[in-house]
Amino acid sequence: MATAVARYTAAAVTDRGRKRPSNEDAFGFSVEAGVYVVCDGMGGAAAGEIASSLAVDEILRLLKERKPENESPLPGAAETAVTAANEAIFSRAQRNHRLNGMGTTLVVMATQDQHVWILNIGDSRCYLMHKGKLQQLTLDHSLVEEQVRLGRMTPREALHSPLKNVITRALGTQSQVTPDIFELEAEPGDLFLLCSDGLTRELPDNTIETLLNGEMPLEALAAQLVEAAKKAGGHDNITCMLVRAEA
Ligand code: CA
Repeated sequence: MATAVARYTAAAVTDRGRKRPSNEDAFGFSVEAGVYVVCDGMGGAAAGEIASSLAVDEILRLLKERKPENESPLPGAAETAVTAANEAIFSRAQRNHRLNGMGTTLVVMATQDQHVWILNIGDSRCYLMHKGKLQQLTLDHSLVEEQVRLGRMTPREALHSPLKNVITRALGTQSQVTPDIFELEAEPGDLFLLCSDGLTRELPDNTIETLLNGEMPLEALAAQLVEAAKKAGGHDNITCMLVRAEA
């Protein structure tokens, strides 16, 4: 019989990168509440930073306040928190014209024992390392990735396309948004990576897989990924969050 997942451990590292003047990525997690969030904001001036940190704060706050015994099951609560974060960003942008159009990507991991739910909007990703193999769990809501999935563009063309920054779904830019939701069962030893595109644009999946197979503490592993992305160019802000299911 497989051993049960008893707990999760987590660590995250974010970095401005080598080209951008500021860091518009944001992250937050609560192991106790079973919630892990990475956001990559967009918008002029400071708007991107405001959107991404609003989203992280709102989702963490709502899921930490949740009382599991008398409230809706976790996946529903996580979806409600995403809706609330969308409204918080959207209404703030409506009230302040300098923040008009701000938004953020979002990837959320919610855990309850071995049950894991991943919610995503935009092109921040969640990967799973299972028995040393890396697999991407989320699908990017980006113009080029959608073209690749339709067979109209090769992955190589997507990487070099002038449209590669266009995302087709964002949190906070419209009054309503729907995340994709993926559900799976974790096994002890499984390692989840939540990251912004500043990592995945710089490093191919096989490099990420090799680095994640290194035997070191989570914090050092996350820092190593960020350093590799900076060395590969560091064109964008980089955020890596690692969550490990433990026996
Ligand atoms: Ca980015």
